[in-house]
Amino acid sequence: RTKAAGRGKWTVFDASMRRAVQERLEIEGALRSALARDELRVFYQPIVDLESGRPRGAEALVRWEHPEKGAIGPNVFIPIAEESRLITGVGAFVLRDAVRQLAVWRAEGVVGDEFWMSINVSPRQLTEPGFTGMVAEALRTHGVPARCVALEITESVMVEGGEISEGALRDLRALGVSISVDDFGTGFSSLGYLRRHPVTSVKIDRSFVSGLGASSSDEEIVRAVVAMSAALGLTVVAEGVESTAQRDVLGRLGVRLCQGWLWGKAVDPSSFAERWSADHTVKAL
Ligand code: C2E
Ligand code: MG
Ligand code: MG
Ligand code: MG
Repeated sequence: RTKAAGRGKWTVFDASMRRAVQERLEIEGALRSALARDELRVFYQPIVDLESGRPRGAEALVRWEHPEKGAIGPNVFIPIAEESRLITGVGAFVLRDAVRQLAVWRAEGVVGDEFWMSINVSPRQLTEPGFTGMVAEALRTHGVPARCVALEITESVMVEGGEISEGALRDLRALGVSISVDDFGTGFSSLGYLRRHPVTSVKIDRSFVSGLGASSSDEEIVRAVVAMSAALGLTVVAEGVESTAQRDVLGRLGVRLCQGWLWGKAVDPSSFAERWSADHTVKAL
């Protein structure tokens, strides 16, 4: 009897496992042709200066418009792309498209000379021998200054990546691009680690921002990150800011750069230009 029940459980587990694996393989297969079929898009979310209410930069966030399945989020397909090495092609596409878009906006006067583009980079990309060269080529091709590009690398990856990524980060810094630690606070990096690595900014993870105004421990964490960043000369960006209460606490704690739905979600390039063009007068919140 127990055996039968056990077997029954195993069957259910097995079936859902098989479905998950199948789904994964399906996505992997479709992703393989997504680039060639022009199904990937890069959307842009403003990174806003609290003092002016204007964007100082934007984060490029990839989107996949699957012809049958509809929109598939990066949280679903980026991990699959990483495991299957498809991330090389996806990452190269996003990098080139975001740098090209920045060049267009600079030429059209949508953004100013100091506006920067933040681009997410996977660990696999970072450790590819040709990665720095590809970044340099994208900048040269589109005539974008290196200081106007920031590469975002997830904190846990930096910590686990060891010496290979440390060398890659040095090459990228030598090129002149900024290095941002993404999801900061979730990856357990030490002060010494941050001092040793050539990073220029940290992005406070949304999980610490969401409790601001309600949780005093989150406030203490943000306060500590701000103090540490000041000591190390790092810029601080808060991500996932959704409410004016959170914004006000962040401002009080000395965070000047924020990103979140309070100002807008990631949108397609023309919507971004329409909403945020430097020609437009500042819209009050
Ligand atoms: P991330 O780099 O930490 O990006 C921030 C995520 O938070 C984005 O999700 C963004 O849309 C979302 N977000 C922004 N403001 C708010 C807010 O106020 N509230 C909430 N709840 N969410 C907010 P998205 O676009 O789904 O991307 C998820 C993750 O996928 C990114 O996290 C990043 O790790 C990865 N990703 C996205 N695009 C790329 C890419 O081109 N390359 C690589 N390697 N990874 C990417
Ligand atoms: Mg990011
Ligand atoms: Mg992030
Ligand atoms: Mg995050």
